[in-house]
Amino acid sequence: MILNKGVQAFSGVTGDYLDMRWEKDGIAVEVLFSKAGLATQILVTTEETAFLIDAGDGTLRDLIHKNFLPQRLKGIFFTHGHADHMAGLYGILGFLRAENHTGTFRIWYPKGCEEVRAVIDAFQRCYKNTTPFTLVEHALNDGDEVEIGQIKVLAREVKHWHSIKGQLLRPAPAMGYRLEFRGITIAVTGDTAPCPSVVELVQDADLALIEASLPDEVSEEQKMFLHLTHSEAKKLGTLARDFRFIHLPKD
Ligand SMILES: [Zn+2]
Repeated sequence: MILNKGVQAFSGVTGDYLDMRWEKDGIAVEVLFSKAGLATQILVTTEETAFLIDAGDGTLRDLIHKNFLPQRLKGIFFTHGHADHMAGLYGILGFLRAENHTGTFRIWYPKGCEEVRAVIDAFQRCYKNTTPFTLVEHALNDGDEVEIGQIKVLAREVKHWHSIKGQLLRPAPAMGYRLEFRGITIAVTGDTAPCPSVVELVQDADLALIEASLPDEVSEEQKMFLHLTHSEAKKLGTLARDFRFIHLPKD
């Protein structure tokens, strides 16, 4: 079943995918919110497990709004440390603590991701001795595989730089993910410029969530190191069985 209440892809340069839900044979993927520079959060659920891919600002609000109990989450896979992908982490940890959640909460991030590490450190500095759940972190390398319930998650390094207003600073540790559940495959590109690994992630996926941040008419530098243009995203989409654009421009 596909419920897509968002604007159809590329009717213009903008569009949103609030409430985008895709479901197939026991696995559901919901883009709770996704807009470049603001926030991106994706919820993956099966009968036995649930986790987020990225947790931008407002993730907790989005979960509660959907009547989804954050205590059901096994953890969060972060694609990279930019604020629009991880600013909601502190809120989720604080909520779980305040609700006296027990058990293990896992956080996966690309190795070297300073921002996610810094938020975990800040949380633990304040609450380490009064947090009822166990926080476990995993730094991922290219090609790492994680099993969570019956879902296998493959992490692939993608190409994305730190930048300010399009000015390149330095490479950011960044991952895309490919999920496999009973033969169903789902790809999430994360933020990336065109690169071989993002093609491999998306190839033949049953669903590909593809970032499409840039209008076609930006500098070559931005196209090389920051994001996919609409044309690149579209081209990539044809490799998958079904796809949706995420991380569309905010204006
Ligand atoms: Zn980014």
